[in-house]
Amino acid sequence: MTALFMKVMIMKELADLHLHSTYSDGVYSPHELATMAKAAGITVLALTDHDTLKGLPEMEEAAKEAGIAFIPGVEFSARWENRQVHIIGYGIDEHNALLLERLADVRNARRSRLEKIIKRLHEMGMDVEVPVPEEGQRAVGRPHIARALVAQGYVKTVQEAFDKYIGEGKPAYQPQTKMTPPEAVMLIHQAGGIAVQAHPEEIGDRALALKLLGALAYDGIEVYHPSAKTKETEFFWLKTATERKLLITGGSDFHGNPGRFPETLPGWPVEREKVQDFLRRFGL
Ligand code: AMP
Ligand code: ZN
Ligand code: FE
Ligand code: FE
Repeated sequence: MTALFMKVMIMKELADLHLHSTYSDGVYSPHELATMAKAAGITVLALTDHDTLKGLPEMEEAAKEAGIAFIPGVEFSARWENRQVHIIGYGIDEHNALLLERLADVRNARRSRLEKIIKRLHEMGMDVEVPVPEEGQRAVGRPHIARALVAQGYVKTVQEAFDKYIGEGKPAYQPQTKMTPPEAVMLIHQAGGIAVQAHPEEIGDRALALKLLGALAYDGIEVYHPSAKTKETEFFWLKTATERKLLITGGSDFHGNPGRFPETLPGWPVEREKVQDFLRRFGL
């Protein structure tokens, strides 16, 4: 094998279509993400902050400066049958009135929920103080609390905070938002976007995931995601997407939280060619 061939093999272009920034519950700003993505060999990225479009202009600018192709996104936290169903909208119109209005409602609900969780932690004897970002259309989430619990020494990692206190079913857990999957898909479509079922395995109920995929007008499935822990799982969703003629996307869901996989970029690389049909929709 020649040295050149080896180099071509190693330098496969990467895509990351699922990233969180400081505009929701990520640790890094869009500019920091762009710098890390560039160094990692990522040539196309999407910002998919929870329930806000506020980071998109900065991410677009930062990606441009870094020479990385950019796709705008947003991740909705919907619920159905007591399960969390995350849905990503790609290529949405950032000025769509209905979308902006509903996202503002959801962010307000997120703030009230955060206060409830903090109150519960106080009752449990943890005097945690959570530095939440100033309003400015940023979305707050449980990782903000988890990081504060780590900083104040109540737990060692973000993961431990979820496992002991704020994960689903744990003593300080509070469910959030009354957004439903049909509403999320509708909001994305009326804003001109592509609706993708995010990390279907993370729903924790394949039958429900398949039922939703059959019932709603999804355009794609996030096949490549850290929650698809085995090749068999990944293949199951790949087959499902192919059979249903749905687009295939993938991303690392990088938040930058210590103790929560993936901790680095690209801690969970996706080869660009695997999501090429999706990228074509954006002229890439
Ligand atoms: P929230 O939107 O406030 O419900 O928080 C959801 C976010 O918390 C997800 O995007 C993950 O980054 C993080 N998260 C969810 N479950 C866990 C877990 N078990 N351990 C660590 N982080 C988690
Ligand atoms: Zn998150
Ligand atoms: Fe998610
Ligand atoms: Fe996410």
